[in-house]
Amino acid sequence: MKEYLRYLPPVHELQKTAQFQETVNKYQINSETVTQIVQESINEIRAQLLAETWEGTTPSKEAFVQEIQHKLEQKAAKITTYYLQKVINATGTVLHTNLGRARLSEEAIKRVVEIAGSYSNLEYQVEEGTRGSRHDIIEGLLKKVTGAEAAMVVNNNAAAVYLVLRALAKEKEVIVSRGQLVEIGGSFRVSSIMEESGAKLVEVGTTNKTHLFDYEQAINENTAMLMKVHTSNFKTIGFTKSVSTEELIELQMKHSDVLFYEDLGSGVLFDYQSHQIGDEPVVAQVVRQGVDIISFSGDKLLGGPQAGIIVGKKELIQKLKKHQLARVLRVDKMTLAALEATLMSYVRGGEGLLEIPTIRDIIVSEYQIKERAMKFINQMVQNPNYTCTLQKDVSQVGGGTMPDVLIPTYTVSLVHHKKNAEELATVLRAGEPSVISRINKETVILDFRTISEVEISEVVHACFQL
Ligand SMILES: *Cc1c(COP(=O)(O)O)cnc(C)c1O
Repeated sequence: MKEYLRYLPPVHELQKTAQFQETVNKYQINSETVTQIVQESINEIRAQLLAETWEGTTPSKEAFVQEIQHKLEQKAAKITTYYLQKVINATGTVLHTNLGRARLSEEAIKRVVEIAGSYSNLEYQVEEGTRGSRHDIIEGLLKKVTGAEAAMVVNNNAAAVYLVLRALAKEKEVIVSRGQLVEIGGSFRVSSIMEESGAKLVEVGTTNKTHLFDYEQAINENTAMLMKVHTSNFKTIGFTKSVSTEELIELQMKHSDVLFYEDLGSGVLFDYQSHQIGDEPVVAQVVRQGVDIISFSGDKLLGGPQAGIIVGKKELIQKLKKHQLARVLRVDKMTLAALEATLMSYVRGGEGLLEIPTIRDIIVSEYQIKERAMKFINQMVQNPNYTCTLQKDVSQVGGGTMPDVLIPTYTVSLVHHKKNAEELATVLRAGEPSVISRINKETVILDFRTISEVEISEVVHACFQL
């Protein structure tokens, strides 16, 4: 096919075409970029001709020009489309790790927008007119909602674990139960973080059973801390034994220079238990027990932005704040703005807590979910291609939290008369916004727990593509 290379149009000729200018105008991109795309498209066709893989019509100048214009349109559309986009979570999993975990409250969003678009007192004391610390923004609120003596925030909980171990246990031993050395979704392993931090992991007990004496026997003059790790999305059942926080604290009391650190994982500030959901203790309860240092995520059950929150004894938090790593792992003003607003909802309490989407979606009544599902079904009747069936079902909390908790919900099983479940799910994902469903027994399932009122018609719209 080499003989056709001479029909390839030169870039400068294509630059003169109406299509070239149209692309510049339509996608609001500069002509240098469009030139680049044209050149790239010519190169691709050249490579195809050389490799004898050209599959278009008989090679001719017109065919090449047409192909280049086609590629130009596609590439221009692609580079001017945001990769990161909103999706509708129809899986019912409230903290879906692949879908960005917690969504922020309206108030948190408002605060992020305001603080991001202006200068702020991020590290400035307005009254005194002197330098301030970004730690101060959140510390007061965190102390209030957890009852801890001191608090700080880093990038995420993995960073919190790393900082605590590095700053307080480097080159010393940290005792952890083998039953808690699990891998948590998204490749977080305590053992690996520990290794990176320079602290030495001392494993005690077995996968299913760890006794107090296992810890007791492992303590020596090199021990820096006892660490308890929430097993998150993993639960051992049956012949098991773990040592409670109370027992560990009693043991620690006998060893004045050994610290007790608990990685709570999710970190609950709202009493889900009182709504008969799970058995997670609230952070304040763990603080009251006397744990020295506690860390947890900001974007799991707390319902805020991605962050790692560390609360505990004042002198220890002071040490962490002063550590060079705290500077490396610090959060930005948008995170602080969102976290401050989220924590403020907790301080206000009451109805205000329902402003936090994570809490609202977990405790929403079955009745309300059913209403949303019915609304969807009623709009779908107009489309004869589908059969929708309302059914009682269960949703999961997700995000590595409460793995054994199944919350009653209502779902709609969606059957298209000419497409199978995989094909239908693909079409839904192609919606604008994209709708992410789950498939169960060859049927597409839409869980209305995580679909908000305004999104119902958008899901209908996605279905109407077929
Ligand atoms: C989720 C989790 C982490 C990691 O938290 P990120 O905020 O995702 O970094 C660490 N430890 C436990 C026990 C967790 O559940």
